[in-house]
Amino acid sequence: MHVLITGGAGFIGAHLTRALLERGDQVAVLDDLSTGNIENIRAFAHHPLYSFAIDDLRNALVLDRLASQADAIVHLAAAVGVQLVVERPTETIETNVIGTHALLAAARRYRCRTLLASTSEVYGKGVKVPFAEDDDLLLGASSRSRWSYAASKLLDEFLGLAAHREYDLPVTVVRFFNTVGPGQTGRYGMVVPRFVRAGLRGEPIPVYGDGEQSRCFCHVRDTVRAVIDLLDRPEQTSGEIYNIGSSQEVTINQLAQTVIDRTGSRSAVQYIPYNEAYAPGFEDMRRRVPDTTKVHGAIGWTPKHNLIQILDDVIDYERLRLPQAG
Ligand code: NAD
Repeated sequence: MHVLITGGAGFIGAHLTRALLERGDQVAVLDDLSTGNIENIRAFAHHPLYSFAIDDLRNALVLDRLASQADAIVHLAAAVGVQLVVERPTETIETNVIGTHALLAAARRYRCRTLLASTSEVYGKGVKVPFAEDDDLLLGASSRSRWSYAASKLLDEFLGLAAHREYDLPVTVVRFFNTVGPGQTGRYGMVVPRFVRAGLRGEPIPVYGDGEQSRCFCHVRDTVRAVIDLLDRPEQTSGEIYNIGSSQEVTINQLAQTVIDRTGSRSAVQYIPYNEAYAPGFEDMRRRVPDTTKVHGAIGWTPKHNLIQILDDVIDYERLRLPQAG
């Protein structure tokens, strides 16, 4: 299969590229390197089945050429990270909505099997836990810019599902919950790499709020396995939305303590109010737990890595890079 990965120089994209090349697929990556990292893809540079275009997703000519050569597209390119979203809401909305619109238009021209990356953020402040794909969604007020990420991804979902319904394009939507693992940057507010780096350096571990908010962390290798299995089954999964995430729920306080234990660090936890970490009036979700019954039913997927295994992988990775980590 010839697969185009938008955002392929990003965290999930680089792991997906590796997995697809390993099974003999041809991979083309389109990425503007805004949050992606050239280091993520250096290892593939001379691979005979790999090609790379540094460009904006919204460059119609480049997108058209790449889509014309692809059997399938995995659309990961997006403005990602709570901090980035709060600081640059216009860029978030434009990249996510205009970019996905352009992507779907190209996919329609060449009848590409398409998988769109959405996010657990679309569940917003919903209190019915765990979150299932058909649940009602509860976003905060539009005056709070953090919700622009969820709203833009939600519009992407509508666009993707509409292309399936109206034009019979084989589109599948995946809602990733917190995906973590080696190679994730801590620059845009990603909690696990930030905690691990602080732990390894013996610096205070910055916990936002009271730390009693909880999350479920999924190893990126499990996420990538789900993406590939869904991509391979367009007949059963087109027009559908799937949650992809772990069900192992931990509070951020527990995460911080586990990082301290696994790194053997003397770091202490430092509590930072949300107002200081983000913007005044910032709203967070208390719990974010996926119901993964649907994806399990479709492709038999369940995560294989627990939190300790994930953290040990991230710690090994960050330890090697400690002098440069930033
Ligand atoms: P990432 O920031 O590492 O990857 C996104 C990539 O898209 C980057 O390489 C970036 O340079 C690229 N990009 C951004 N704007 C672009 C544009 N206009 N043109 C071309 N490339 C552009 O983030 P990630 O964690 O790998 O996320 C991948 C996808 O998964 C995103 O769509 C994100 O919304 C979604 N997601 C991720 C998580 C997670 O926990 N990692 C959770 C929910 C959803």
